[in-house]
Amino acid sequence: MTELTKIYQNINKEKDMISIDHKSLEGVGGAFITVKVDEGKIFSREQFSDQHKMFSKAAVEFGENRIMPERQALNVLNKNLTLDIFKEMGELGFLGIDIPEEYGGLALDKTTSCIVVESLSSGRNASILVTMSAHTGIACLPIIWYGNKDQKKKYLPKLSSGEWMGAYALTEPNAGSDALSGKTTAVLNEKGTHYILNGTKIYITNGAWSDVVVTFAKTGLNEYTSFIVEKNFPGFIIGSEEKKMGIKGSSTVTLFFENCEVPVENVLGEIGQGNAIAFNGLYVGRYKLGVVTAGGAKYAIEEAYNFAKEREQFSRSITEFGMVQKKFANMVVSAWEADSLNYMTSGSIDSRLSKLDKSSSDYYNRVQQIIEEHGIEASICKILGSETLQKTTDEALQIFGGAGFIEEYPFATMYRDERINRIFEGTNEINRLIIGSYTLKKAINEEAPIRNLILQRKVEWNPELKIEEDCNIYHEAKICEYYRSLLVMVIDDLILTMGQDLKSEQWVLEPLADMVISFSVMDTGIKRFLQLDGKTKLNEEMLEVLKVSVAERSKEMSLLSEKIWISIYDEEVAKEKIIVSKQYFNKLEYYPNIIGLKKKIMKRVSHYGKYYLDKE
Ligand SMILES: Cc1cc2nc3c(=O)[nH]c(=O)nc-3n(C[C@H](O)[C@H](O)[C@H](O)COP(=O)(O)OP(=O)(O)OC[C@H]3O[C@@H](n4cnc5c(N)ncnc54)[C@H](O)[C@@H]3O)c2cc1C
Repeated sequence: MTELTKIYQNINKEKDMISIDHKSLEGVGGAFITVKVDEGKIFSREQFSDQHKMFSKAAVEFGENRIMPERQALNVLNKNLTLDIFKEMGELGFLGIDIPEEYGGLALDKTTSCIVVESLSSGRNASILVTMSAHTGIACLPIIWYGNKDQKKKYLPKLSSGEWMGAYALTEPNAGSDALSGKTTAVLNEKGTHYILNGTKIYITNGAWSDVVVTFAKTGLNEYTSFIVEKNFPGFIIGSEEKKMGIKGSSTVTLFFENCEVPVENVLGEIGQGNAIAFNGLYVGRYKLGVVTAGGAKYAIEEAYNFAKEREQFSRSITEFGMVQKKFANMVVSAWEADSLNYMTSGSIDSRLSKLDKSSSDYYNRVQQIIEEHGIEASICKILGSETLQKTTDEALQIFGGAGFIEEYPFATMYRDERINRIFEGTNEINRLIIGSYTLKKAINEEAPIRNLILQRKVEWNPELKIEEDCNIYHEAKICEYYRSLLVMVIDDLILTMGQDLKSEQWVLEPLADMVISFSVMDTGIKRFLQLDGKTKLNEEMLEVLKVSVAERSKEMSLLSEKIWISIYDEEVAKEKIIVSKQYFNKLEYYPNIIGLKKKIMKRVSHYGKYYLDKE
């Protein structure tokens, strides 16, 4: 027995003293880290309401019937066509999901707004989705959340109907990821009637087509304030369209404020509240980007399969080759993982929002707090979705072979279009920083019972579960709890060895973020599966995918933990940590047949001809 094993086993065994109230963590951001798989309930698409399904159907039909036929035309700048389709989206209510009813919107839950953007992916055009998402998310949300009555009355009905388009202008030449280092200034004029804005905002989506722009400027040394700028305000100048690598059908321009006169009534929120306004909408943008990219990945699988089944080499369809089959299986697993996280997140936020009193004066403050509290989940959705679409597009292009490289086929465009998703709404590096640092913050400030969990797991690394041993997911559930222990042990070690310095130690913060991501996938996947009804076909189908997901994510987590330990401890201590963790792992006798499972997944792809796990 090693020294560390003895230490772990000799720690006070009064587990009940440090028990965690799982019930009280329902709907709390970051809860997945601490709530055991047999204790927690999550939301997933299997729980969609009739209303959710209705919106899904309507948006899928709109995508297929209205966007898809114009897919090519929308791949280049086409203002009139884009605005026509945009207005039709408004008429169907797709632009007003988050907007209060009194201002022409539908005031529906966050899950519905996710469903709509995902379902519109059926149109298979990224440009129009970027246009729509920037409008409904980062452009409209600040006005919904911070606008006063007059501002809401003036802007929201038109933004909801699609009569007006919105943009959000934060980025400046010297202020990208470091968004609050912008130099744009706003100075009150002598009469006190207008703020005079001077500065430049770059890469602004919808910039040339928008009637209203939510922007940010310095009103004092360290004071950032938000403004609603209309396109006709004097001194508001629109630059020429950027020549982009992808999403070429969306508008991206520089906006210049040259002594731009913005009436004082157009200050959004309070003076100095710009930081919060700038960032809070981005959380929503992130999980919705996760949803839209996961949706895109699902359609890419179908498109790749339709090609592959017809393409013959060596006298047979290329779908008969193991290496091609593996690609399809990987694509399905990845899309399902992203899907699980997306709706877990929207559902968790909705479950808390539904308890709020909408008539309360601090309603939108509470909404933002709840969304901000889900910052880890929002960043995970963004990373998983964008990287799923990246892998899927790349593999699908490979399946097309030479045709993948030819513009006539869809993947050359998709390859260029998907690239932006890892850059905007916070680069994936910035989102990994958020995941790593928010997790540590939750542990250090005891915002989540991570410390309790660390103590518990030092007593019992592989805890007992309420799940029966003959349950088809028992092994994976045990494995998931093993990795929950591993994750919190690593968090503990990082805090003990590096303390507050960790915030700037990206070499370990990034692998920590990746551990959190992989763990969230395992935990969410198993919780999703455990909530399925008995012996449905979906049950069997999801089981195969889940087993692959757990097997691969668990390998990744082991490697990441070793990498972190070796970098923060001297060799002997690190070695001992690794040996102890392996001893606990070996007790679980976990030997998944990944190849066998992937073969089964490919059979399903061949049967359905597409991604097949979206049965509600
Ligand atoms: C097509 C398109 C549309 C856009 N739409 C909008 C819009 O509508 N509104 C808007 O305001 N902005 C928009 N943007 C801007 C976008 O949000 C920024 O480009 C993005 O935030 C990155 O900023 P940057 O380009 O200045 O890169 P930088 O911040 O300079 O980053 C360069 C590299 O350094 C990395 N990096 C930076 N800081 C750190 C750090 N602390 N730790 C680790 N790595 C770091 C980044 O991850 C990246 O890899 C858009 C951009 C594009 C290309």
